[in-house]
Amino acid sequence: MSIALNLDHASNAARPTTPRRSSLVGLSKPQLREAMAGIGLDEREAKMRASQLWNWIYVNGVTDFERMSNIQKGFRQTLSDNFLLDRPEIVSEQISIDGTRKWLFRYRDPKNPNLPPVEIETVYIPESDRGTLCVSSQVGCTLTCSFCHTGTQTLVRNLTAGEILGQILMARERLGDFPGGVRPDDGGLVPGPRGSGGSEGDSRAITNVVMMGMGEPLYNYDNVKQALLIASDEAGISLSKRRITLSTSGVVPFIEPAGREIGTMLAISLHAVRDDLRDMLVPINKKYPLNDLLEACRTYPGLSNARRITFEYVMLKDINDSDADARELVRLLSGIPAKINLIPFNPWPGTNYDCSSSARIERFADIVNNAGYASPVRTPRGRDIFAACGQLKSETERLTKRDRDALTSA
Ligand code: SF4
Repeated sequence: MSIALNLDHASNAARPTTPRRSSLVGLSKPQLREAMAGIGLDEREAKMRASQLWNWIYVNGVTDFERMSNIQKGFRQTLSDNFLLDRPEIVSEQISIDGTRKWLFRYRDPKNPNLPPVEIETVYIPESDRGTLCVSSQVGCTLTCSFCHTGTQTLVRNLTAGEILGQILMARERLGDFPGGVRPDDGGLVPGPRGSGGSEGDSRAITNVVMMGMGEPLYNYDNVKQALLIASDEAGISLSKRRITLSTSGVVPFIEPAGREIGTMLAISLHAVRDDLRDMLVPINKKYPLNDLLEACRTYPGLSNARRITFEYVMLKDINDSDADARELVRLLSGIPAKINLIPFNPWPGTNYDCSSSARIERFADIVNNAGYASPVRTPRGRDIFAACGQLKSETERLTKRDRDALTSA
């Protein structure tokens, strides 16, 4: 049984027709300074105000300029006349029996509020020693991985850096992660002062972020990069880069830049050890086959035993789960500091795949383990609310064709 809270206080609101003030959420520090200069501040003052705003937005989670107590009243008004501190609307919040939370968030197009809004899903997975937020990078996905529910939803648009960060900020608010926030009363499932997201002595509900929600992050590279650099900035949300994982299905040309410019942990959605099978399960493999992908992994900047790549491997009955597959996996990964996450397949309506049996998964894990690779079997989380891996899909595709054309051509 799961609990669904309907928080849709905005769905019936009239669609805005006037252009909106621009949002400060998701701007880099130089962009924030530029925005301040744009309303007439000199360089010194723009720098000072940008740093105050950064602190209010990312450390204190403030969404109202009026609460910025170290900024004079008159200037608070100027800020609110010119800017917004946008967060997504919450359409729904579902809580699984295992404590997993799934939010359906709604965004309006930042440049054109007359376009229909889009919706995406974000998932929070609490564990005893950590709390992981699974963040989306796109509305839908261009890739059509055949085991993935999101892959059946065509790409509507990329999320902006502010919209990616908005998921983290909104989840932090709902989980009481900002100063003075109240932790939800859920029988201790949401980590209290247990996990550490960054610095020593720091405690928060969200300790880890994985870019594994809807979409292929490396097909929205610039926005994902900007959002993750902001999320890991020590003067703000301050999540350690070792606690942020960027997951890709294998967009080879962006793997090296991601390591060099973003520097987070890397996960690869591998799922098959032969090109013919991977072409079918993860069709981007036709463009960037296994050899190219694994070469990019071998040369991933900063790769070491302390900074291993995670290979995600979904266990599909009679498709990719034989002893021979496990042995080939070990052979392919030879020389790459790696961890292999075995993911029992999470069914969704209309899929043709079945999950491998527990005995088969155990046998597969043994072979990989005996070769010296950690190969934890991921416990499915939030299945009852369709929040588990590969199950995310929003309702944006229910838009009329005219709305969808407007969004994709915007
Ligand atoms: S697995 Fe990732 S890349 Fe593949 S279809 Fe699903 S969301 Fe897109």
